[in-house]
Amino acid sequence: MKCNVITIFPDLISHYCGESILARAQTKKLLDVNPVDLRDFTEDKHRTADDTPYGGGAGMVMKPEPMYKALKFLDAIPLSKEKGLGKLKKIFSGSLKKKKCTIIMSPRGRRFDQELAQKWSKFDELTIICGRYEGIDQRVFDHMVDEEISIGPYVLAGGELGALVIIEAVARLIPGVLGNPDSLTEETFGKKKLKIGNCASDIVYEYPQYTKPAEFMGWRVPDVLLSGDHKKIKDWKEKEMGKMKDRG
Ligand code: SAH
Repeated sequence: MKCNVITIFPDLISHYCGESILARAQTKKLLDVNPVDLRDFTEDKHRTADDTPYGGGAGMVMKPEPMYKALKFLDAIPLSKEKGLGKLKKIFSGSLKKKKCTIIMSPRGRRFDQELAQKWSKFDELTIICGRYEGIDQRVFDHMVDEEISIGPYVLAGGELGALVIIEAVARLIPGVLGNPDSLTEETFGKKKLKIGNCASDIVYEYPQYTKPAEFMGWRVPDVLLSGDHKKIKDWKEKEMGKMKDRG
C-alpha cells in the first residue's frame, strides 16, 4: 500500500515511519510511506502555504492552491469531485481499478476507528492531508477529498500525529506486516464473534496478559494460567474478556 502524507513537516512522518514495524513493512515492500512537502507546491520565494482568514479572526489558514497542486501531482483528487469531466466521470470511475482514498485530518471530522482501519487496509493508496495553524481553506474539504477524519475529541497543533495513527493502525492489518498474524485474531476490537456468558458480542476487548516471572513483588499471575489446563485457560480468557467489555 502506498501512503502519501501532505504536510509542511515531512520529517515528522519519515522519522516515525523509519522505525520498528512501519520500517519493516517498508523493507518488505508491503508499505510505501511518501511524505510530500506542501511547500514544494508553493510559488513564491518564501514558500508560503498559509494566509490570513477572510472575515477576520485569529491565526492563519492554509491556502487551497498548494494543496490542489500537491493532490493533482499525486493524482489524488477523487474523480467524483474533478471539475469538467461531465459524463465521462462515470466511465472513468467504472474503469478505475486502484482503490484510493483521500483523507483530510480535522478535529470536526468522522472519528477514526478500527472498522475504518480494516476497510483502508485493503486499499492500494491513501493520501492524508495534514493541517497546521487555524486549519485549512474550506474549499479543500468541499472539492478535493473523500473523507474528513478526526482521531479524537481534542485539538492538536497539526494533522501529522493523526496521519501516523492512521498509517500505523492500517499497516499492521496488511497481511505479512505483523510477525505473527495470530496477534490480530483475538485482540481488542477484533471482529471475531465471541460468546461471553449469555451475551454474544461484536466488539472484543483483549483479556489481561502476563509474562514471567510468575510472582513479582508478591503479585502472582492467576493460578489458572500456570495450570496447563487448556480448557480452563480458555474459559478464563473468555470470562476476562467479558469483564473488560463491562468496563468499556
Ligand atoms: N481551528 C481548528 C483547529 C485547527 S488545529 C478548529 O477549531 O477546528 C490544526 C490542524 O491540526 C487541523 O487542520 C487538523 O489537520 C489537525 N488536527 C487538530 N486536531 C485534530 C484531531 N483531533 N484529529 C485530526 N486532526 C486534528
